[in-house]
Amino acid sequence: MILNDLEKIEFSDNSRLNFDYDLNHLNWFNIGGKSKIFLLANSLSDLSLFLNKYKQRSKIYILGAGSNTLFDDDIYDGAVIKLGKNFNNISKLNDNSIISGSSCSDKKVAEFAMENGIEGFEFLSCIPGSIGGGIRMNAGCYNREFKDILISVQAIDFAGRVSTIPSSKIIFKYRSTDLHKNLIFLSGTFKGTISIKDKIKKKIEELKNKKEYSQPLRVKTSGSTFKNPINQTNKKVWELIRESIDIQKVNKMFGDATVSEKHCNFLINKEKASSKDMKNLINFIKQNVYKKTGVELELEIILTS
Ligand SMILES: Cc1cc2nc3c(=O)[nH]c(=O)nc-3n(C[C@H](O)[C@H](O)[C@H](O)COP(=O)(O)OP(=O)(O)OC[C@H]3O[C@@H](n4cnc5c(N)ncnc54)[C@H](O)[C@@H]3O)c2cc1C
Repeated sequence: MILNDLEKIEFSDNSRLNFDYDLNHLNWFNIGGKSKIFLLANSLSDLSLFLNKYKQRSKIYILGAGSNTLFDDDIYDGAVIKLGKNFNNISKLNDNSIISGSSCSDKKVAEFAMENGIEGFEFLSCIPGSIGGGIRMNAGCYNREFKDILISVQAIDFAGRVSTIPSSKIIFKYRSTDLHKNLIFLSGTFKGTISIKDKIKKKIEELKNKKEYSQPLRVKTSGSTFKNPINQTNKKVWELIRESIDIQKVNKMFGDATVSEKHCNFLINKEKASSKDMKNLINFIKQNVYKKTGVELELEIILTS
């Protein structure tokens, strides 16, 4: 890939372009090699400028908070784009709706909604991702998903065309949407219901406690690895995993890539697991669940290769 022309781009909002950039510290697993190109885009004009010069010469990966991404150990032979400063704003549109930049954390949006007495965003306080990642994944928990609050998405495609997509035009599925893969979400408009701050605060605390009780905290993980196989069985994926593998034994087989004892759909990088270790563990679980239960597990986490 020829890169000379990219090196000469002059950004107006201090966006940063790096070559052979380490991805390892940009995701929750702390796993991954380098990216041939890495762009921290601070504004829409800088992002457009880059897309215009890059001209889709190779693949692009949009990175949010990296809480659902497993990078490869080998170089990512394309561009990883992360949205920076100007995509981190949040404001109230009217009494019950909010517009949030894509790089805002879900937690920040939940808190903003609470401060402004808007109910319905509480579940976001339990998801450690960004608004952009949440829209892409139709993230959710405790019976709420992004689809329940999203009104529209503002996006730019890899060719530089900006559009607004109303949520009525989006097909939402369990942990995915039909939004085209060449879209970079810039912001989302969301709607809740008018309520009382204290009531919302209490609900957030309840949900957070529930999460803390059932899931491992402060570990290098990407959350749920596999989707619940809702079309194949009523059982939760963690039940299938638990009945198909001996966790203690498996945790000695793949280096630092391990299965959480607290929630076995959460895989953990104990310290220095490689992507290969993690993928071997993933495949081992998949094969054993299939052998034991006949259920084919589908990944929830995103592999970049
Ligand atoms: C401890 C823990 C708990 C979790 N609990 C939950 C949970 O309860 N419910 C749940 O649903 N998930 C959960 N997750 C998974 C994860 O937090 C969500 O999927 C989250 O929405 C991912 O957001 P992100 O910004 O980190 O996305 P990333 O991992 O950065 O990216 C995920 C996907 O979104 C795309 N993407 C990111 N930003 C943009 C953008 N601006 N434009 C276009 N595409 C974009 C990426 O290209 C990729 O396809 C958990 C993860 C962890 C580590």
